[in-house]
Amino acid sequence: MLDKVVIANRGEIALRILRACRELGIKTVAVHSTADKDLKHVLLADETFCIGKPPANESYLNIPSIIAAAEVTDAIAIHPGYGFLSENADFAEQVEKSGFIFIGPKAETIRLMGDKVSAIEAMKKAGVPCVPGSDGPLTDDNKRNLQIAKRIGYPVIIKAAGGGGGRGMRVVRTEDELVEAIAITQSEAGSFFGNSVVYMEKFLENPRHVEVQVLADGQGNAIHLGERDCSMQRRHQKVVEEAPAPGITEEMRKFIGERCARACIEIGYRGAGTFEFLFENGEFYFIEMNTRIQVEHPVTEMVTGVDLIKEQLRIAAGQPLSITQDEVQIRGHAIECRINAEDPNSFIPSPGKIEHFHPPGGMGIRWDSHIYAGYSVPPHYDSMIGKLITYGENRGIAIARMRNALRELVIDGIKCNVPLQQRIMDDENFQNGGTNIHYLEKKLEAEK
Ligand code: ADP
Repeated sequence: MLDKVVIANRGEIALRILRACRELGIKTVAVHSTADKDLKHVLLADETFCIGKPPANESYLNIPSIIAAAEVTDAIAIHPGYGFLSENADFAEQVEKSGFIFIGPKAETIRLMGDKVSAIEAMKKAGVPCVPGSDGPLTDDNKRNLQIAKRIGYPVIIKAAGGGGGRGMRVVRTEDELVEAIAITQSEAGSFFGNSVVYMEKFLENPRHVEVQVLADGQGNAIHLGERDCSMQRRHQKVVEEAPAPGITEEMRKFIGERCARACIEIGYRGAGTFEFLFENGEFYFIEMNTRIQVEHPVTEMVTGVDLIKEQLRIAAGQPLSITQDEVQIRGHAIECRINAEDPNSFIPSPGKIEHFHPPGGMGIRWDSHIYAGYSVPPHYDSMIGKLITYGENRGIAIARMRNALRELVIDGIKCNVPLQQRIMDDENFQNGGTNIHYLEKKLEAEK
């Protein structure tokens, strides 16, 4: 096993990684900014190392500081968590060049999947269903671009190859808007992402977001662990996630899961990863791959019983996967509500000191969070302060437990989005399952 791991992240995921390391007998190094010396995992870690000032680009994105922390503490590996440097191929490369293990895929795989045009090409080759599209970058040949759009059929969406975070895309509904839309997206993509390459896809009007979790050992073995539904979104940010996805049959799960696992083998994938799909009229359409652990990984853990972070650590240590595809069984249902320090109506972040805190409990309740009474949520980072996860033998029980748990949860001193989560859990259409990615925004608009 690995001897000592640097946790290059903060908040709940850093604590989650620390817990998995402890279970495996791995020593931990918590790197943190000056604003984060009171984080729970920093207080619990075997060693700590301050890597810089509060702004992320001076600490959690500071590659030399993080590598220096690994050198000084004699660590063997670095876990990037999610966000920050987790999908930065240059970071993965520098970690390995400095003689440490990057807990994630090879830099070249991150690079391949980070460019959406090359990712789609690789997926098509591997037999993963993709959105009908331009099959490559758009050129300056407007006649050709108009022909491509005609073949795909309007509406289409122009997307940046290097895009991320829901930025750098534009929907085109009629032929006369196309040429200008391509030019604007190209120029925006150039200034946002330093890469002006764009491509075209069919625009799906009312899809759901369904994603498939995979694990691969980088030695020719890969499995899938079923899917999650993350359609409850606001501004492309997931708010509620669940596993399994409502209405996905065992047959559909096998169809899409097997293709994802096979694609992992074809691209030489190593570690945990997620294939994101839009799902409409019973069909899956690949949009992108996340080459890291995701925020919503616990719902998969709850229904499969597989600890995904421990699997990441085992894979990084060169061990084979602890389970085979045949051993993966989806049992019951799990739901995750993201708990954010923000005003539940205006969504304005609400950092500050937590005066009182009381976590919910009982059967089937999981609370993944770093907060405690007296802890001050700093203003510099993402507003997510915890994840409330419930499990039940079926979806109805998981929802009932979530409603109880949200009522029990007390976080005083700052505002948080618990009232919004309660409204979602009480929503009849959510309770019926299968709402699409626009549902929450429409609901919020209607309730204004
Ligand atoms: P990013 O990397 O910026 O998150 P994605 O490719 O994952 O970009 O797309 C983000 C979101 O944009 C999707 O979740 C979906 O809401 C919307 N979107 C992207 N492609 C399409 C498409 N072809 N049709 C409809 N919506 C799309």
